Amino acid sequence: MKKQVVLYKKLSPTLMARLQAQAEVTLIDTLDSEGLARLRAALPRAHGLLGASLKLDAGLLDLAPDLQAIASVSVGVDNYDIDYLTERRILLSNTPDVLTETTADTGFALILATARRVVELANVVRAGEWTRNVGPAQFGTDVHGKTLGIIGMGRIGEALAQRGHFGFGMPVIYHSQTPKPAVEQRFDAQYRSLPHLLQEADFVCLTLPLTAATEGLIGAREFALMGPETIFINISRGKVVDEAAMIEALRDGQIRAAGLDVFEREPLNPDSPLLRLNNVVATPHIGSATHETREAMARCAVDNLLAALGGERPKNLVNVQAWKA
Ligand code: NAP
Repeated sequence: MKKQVVLYKKLSPTLMARLQAQAEVTLIDTLDSEGLARLRAALPRAHGLLGASLKLDAGLLDLAPDLQAIASVSVGVDNYDIDYLTERRILLSNTPDVLTETTADTGFALILATARRVVELANVVRAGEWTRNVGPAQFGTDVHGKTLGIIGMGRIGEALAQRGHFGFGMPVIYHSQTPKPAVEQRFDAQYRSLPHLLQEADFVCLTLPLTAATEGLIGAREFALMGPETIFINISRGKVVDEAAMIEALRDGQIRAAGLDVFEREPLNPDSPLLRLNNVVATPHIGSATHETREAMARCAVDNLLAALGGERPKNLVNVQAWKA
């Protein structure tokens, strides 16, 4: 008998056909209140789940007594209670690697957009207000040759370092849980403690996961260590940053600008003070959002789910303990 899979993210026709060849599929294509009610109704029969951007807490998963595997279409796994899943021996998989380069591109787009004030000045042109040559009041700051500070030297951090070092001649400094000798050698990068990195970097870029240890890692004290020329970039998760403290730092000129792809609450509230600050470039969590990369992520998630439901260890298993058990 085919396994039951609940999709809470739409797949391309090719991937849908592949999944349907091996499983009975229920698609929940929106996560509004009606979609969530349909999800709750489908969970009691589910052996597998595939999707993203939904907090799957015990309250929901207790409705799925036969659940064997969850394939997250993301690299970040902060939407899951990993201990709970492991206890229930539910295999959780994610989609690393296939999104690394695209997310690093997004990081660099934010670096360039904030430093050169691309959005702010493009809006001047769009509004028909470009009436004379720009002067110092509109000048930006250079990217090339400036110091790139990366917090979380993993896959995406390394891809950012590669762009900075080879593309823009930027000295690279980084902070991570463990030193990375191979990265140091490849990009001539140097390890720094967090306070030293914040003091020294021209661009402070967050590329670490949201965990109990990183939640609120960057707050008022950390912004105070940055300088008035520092540009802050967040492509990791909004909750790694104390957003209120960041808004204060941006308002007071404690830092120069921020490029933000992620926020404490998403979608960002239209009343957020961030939207009234000219020195903020905000994007709607588009780190991996290209046609090619989203398809590659979905393919990876389908592979992981089919492997898990077929009794094999998924390539990108997150909770290895659940497999061992
Ligand atoms: P990764 O390869 O696991 O890299 C994360 C790095 O963060 C690791 O090198 C780790 O250091 C470091 N780290 C973890 N906890 C830390 C801490 N407390 N202090 C300092 N460093 C710490 O993951 P990745 O593939 O690069 O992805 C990173 C994150 O980016 C994801 O978890 C996700 O939240 C986010 N992301 C966002 C988007 C977007 O759309 N904006 C897209 C993709 C990913 P060690 O290696 O030393 O343990």
